[in-house]
Amino acid sequence: MATIPFPKKKVSAAVAHEELAILERTYPHAVTALEYRNPFQLLIAVILSAQCTDARVNMTTPALFAKYPTPHDLAKAPLSDVERIIKSCGFYRAKAKSIVSAARDLAEKHDGHVPKAREDLESLAGVGRKTASVVMSVAFGEAAFAVDTHVFRVAHRLGLTTGKTPLDVEKDVTKIVPREKWRFAHHWLILHGRAICKAPRPLCERCPVSAICPTGKAVLKNKTGKSPRR
Ligand code: SF4
Repeated sequence: MATIPFPKKKVSAAVAHEELAILERTYPHAVTALEYRNPFQLLIAVILSAQCTDARVNMTTPALFAKYPTPHDLAKAPLSDVERIIKSCGFYRAKAKSIVSAARDLAEKHDGHVPKAREDLESLAGVGRKTASVVMSVAFGEAAFAVDTHVFRVAHRLGLTTGKTPLDVEKDVTKIVPREKWRFAHHWLILHGRAICKAPRPLCERCPVSAICPTGKAVLKNKTGKSPRR
């Protein structure tokens, strides 16, 4: 199945604001699907969620946190035991190494607490800009906009960005969305990407943004020969 090309041009600011307002109304209570009880658990869950579904992570973390409830406990865990527990999340050897190293950093450099500052978060093993943004925004309510694969795809299809990298997309979207809504906008785009704007084929017929989305207009025109009605 051929992938739908992203629009080559950004939409106007007015259309971008309208698209985002529709998504905000569609997903008014958007929150992360990852289950966690504290910033440490969220951090570990986000690292495990790379290339894995949140549902699978949620099935895995209870056993992990029951056995290793704090950064100090996880820092001392035998890698082979952590690998066994998290095996179903995929890339389990690399992820086990990352979460044990991150826990060691937390225990040794941050007194067992997850830091709030981006620079400190990104210095932890296995933590890049996206993971740091999720922890900052979800655990601490900070203004941060995480770009994962869903956000990248949906932002392009909507014509909010033509950026080549996640950082380009982050810069473009955070110019449009007011700062106090950055942490919610991440969830609007993720939920929309999972439910409707799927890869590789979006369900434009069922999408509330289809009348103004450049990709949706092209997809529906190809199917019906007519532009969608506003
Ligand atoms: S109209 Fe289609 S491409 Fe545009 S956001 Fe909706 S599902 Fe995605």
